[in-house]
Amino acid sequence: MSYDPSFDKAPELLARAARAAGSRPDLTQGGGGNVSIKMGAERMLVKASGVQLKDVTPASGYALVNYGNIRRRIADGPGGENEFSDFICAQALPVKGVRPAAPSIETGFHALLNTVVIHTHSVYANILNMSVEGHALGGKMFPGAEFLPYKSPGPQLCSAINDRARASGPQTFFLGNHGLAVAHAGTEGALELNERVNESIRRGLSLPPYPAVRPSAGLSAHNAARLAHYGRDFILENVLSPDQALYCGPADLDGKGGMDAVNEVLTALFYILDCIKLLKFTPRFLTKSDVAYFDTMKSKRYSRK
Ligand SMILES: [Zn+2]
Repeated sequence: MSYDPSFDKAPELLARAARAAGSRPDLTQGGGGNVSIKMGAERMLVKASGVQLKDVTPASGYALVNYGNIRRRIADGPGGENEFSDFICAQALPVKGVRPAAPSIETGFHALLNTVVIHTHSVYANILNMSVEGHALGGKMFPGAEFLPYKSPGPQLCSAINDRARASGPQTFFLGNHGLAVAHAGTEGALELNERVNESIRRGLSLPPYPAVRPSAGLSAHNAARLAHYGRDFILENVLSPDQALYCGPADLDGKGGMDAVNEVLTALFYILDCIKLLKFTPRFLTKSDVAYFDTMKSKRYSRK
């Protein structure tokens, strides 16, 4: 029998967390970020692949998975990229009245953490995640948090998180060149923790206000000006994040991509680069082989989350 979401508060809570995290362009850009909520020992609702966080509702935009199986699989060694992604997709279970959807590519690490997990590509956390100096400073600001070096999304990142994951208690992960993940026993607690981390960085480092992101047919005026400042070649050759690798290719920079997402990702990228410079930090770019991973993934399964 299918799971009937109307008998449970979890879909409402998932949608609330997704809207709160997904309606701010300083926290999520394009299809980035995801939220999840566990129900009992085996079942978890998680944002679906290819859906934007702000579009998750109690009746759409998520998948139900058996997270117990995913946890056991990661503990045994998750296996290769495609194998692991097939395994995650095979854990999806039918939900009454909800269109079947593939779970997010990042479902693996959600399975490892406490009941509610909010994962965003927060620009504030990413100033720390994308600079040479950031994690050492972050360790002083958030003594209980975990700071992980960059791992490609998928089995590698899951294994790294598995080494530090606790199934209970609040937990904060700074993911190198990627984003922030917070886990908590409840939705309100997770939202508060997420907000507290972001505000502490924003205030602690006296960061400038985040620029407004306005819809535009091509590059927004703000992004065109920042691109001219940094130079097109510099942006194409120096990649800070998976999102930049996926959303900021030559055609995107020419204004010929899915421009809502491209403008959101570029505004975040330029904000992070500008703040790193303002703080007199050094940006830490992905290696050539880290970037090459996305060239193969782009043509296959990694569909912008
Ligand atoms: Zn992510």
